[in-house]
Amino acid sequence: MKNDLTRLEDALKTVLETVPVLGVEKIGLLEALGRVLAEDIIAERDNPPWDNSAMDGFAVRHEDIKQQHAITTPTVLQVIEDVPAGKFPAQKVGEGEAIRIMTGAPIPEGADTVLKVEDTEHTPDSVKVFKEEPRGANIRLRGEDVRKGDCIIPSGKAIRPAEAGMLAILAKPFVFVYQRPRVAVLSTGDELADLDERFNEEKIINSNSYGIAAAVQEAGGLPILLGIAKDQPEALKAKIRQGLNADILVLSGGVSMGDYDFTKPVFQELGGEMNFWKLAIRPGQPVAFGKIGKTLAFGLPGNPVSSMVTFEQLVRPAMLKMCGHTVLHRPVVQALFQERFSKRPDRRHFLRGVLWMENDMLMVRTTGSQGSGILTSMVKANGLIDVPVEVEKLKPGDVVNVQVLGGGF
Ligand code: AMP
Ligand code: MG
Repeated sequence: MKNDLTRLEDALKTVLETVPVLGVEKIGLLEALGRVLAEDIIAERDNPPWDNSAMDGFAVRHEDIKQQHAITTPTVLQVIEDVPAGKFPAQKVGEGEAIRIMTGAPIPEGADTVLKVEDTEHTPDSVKVFKEEPRGANIRLRGEDVRKGDCIIPSGKAIRPAEAGMLAILAKPFVFVYQRPRVAVLSTGDELADLDERFNEEKIINSNSYGIAAAVQEAGGLPILLGIAKDQPEALKAKIRQGLNADILVLSGGVSMGDYDFTKPVFQELGGEMNFWKLAIRPGQPVAFGKIGKTLAFGLPGNPVSSMVTFEQLVRPAMLKMCGHTVLHRPVVQALFQERFSKRPDRRHFLRGVLWMENDMLMVRTTGSQGSGILTSMVKANGLIDVPVEVEKLKPGDVVNVQVLGGGF
């Protein structure tokens, strides 16, 4: 590898060492999806709160129904009460008695077994039992799901639908979670026009701001769009200043060879301590990272694919750490490569790929043309094929690692 190139692993290490976990806030359960818990959730009650029936049927004493030998000689029990779900039984089940019970209703005192309604013949006052059930059958025990005092969801866990339901079971309408990073998004370039400007054939539409804003949202952050800065130091400085209240500033463009000469002094004049890296990756070689005051600043390459891939590899893990996540990376799967590919052994390549299952195996091919301006290569992709620095050739059947992109597979 050329020694002026920085390995992605080293750049990521620097980024993650610099990035703090944000503070804590209290939010309502309906806003909690995807947020990360900043408190251990300890059960203050048992679930279920009492022994209850798993079936519609009859609560009985096992003693009264055991040794049911023959369909011809059923046991007959007297039905003394009806307990719908949501009611507590008023009576105790005594010898020769049964209480009709609905799923979820509390088990009456005296009863230790529930008979399924379909295994009986019954009238309003009596029930015929044809079949023995083991003692304790069809009863859900108090605390079998959750025991009072246990830590049910540890701090650091992201809230999914299962956790939301559990928090409701535990009677917690509010939870403490880590704050979401506010991410200022700035595009640079004299050639750019924004979507709300009059269409001009000489300009390039600023697509990066929208792609990056969406990536910020997907990673759990709040995007703040700063628009476009012209390629002049004063204009760039003024725009960057607007972003310095944010937790993160993501700049796209302005870090490649030609632009670097004026971007670097701007960061320095603003008091920024920046690293300018030529990363040993493709796409996305030039990247800047550092701090301006308390704001973390990322300068990503302007090419749309490069900005997305470098966001994925560096900004997204940083944001996930800020949000309190402990897993900072996309899931990586192994798949069988279906093409021929060659490169020089000087950079790690992220090929845009399509993963699919065939004969119980994961397969992957590229999306076709891989230029860093070909955004359709990202549109078609559900994964990034991670080809290590050292690898020179891939052939059909080779096993490759693939980062699975969100929502695609
Ligand atoms: P740069 O990194 O500034 O040299 O830009 C590299 C390429 O990416 C140029 O062709 C730019 O026109 C394009 N580019 C830069 N910024 C954006 C943007 N915000 N949206 C779309 N394309 C961009
Ligand atoms: Mg530019």
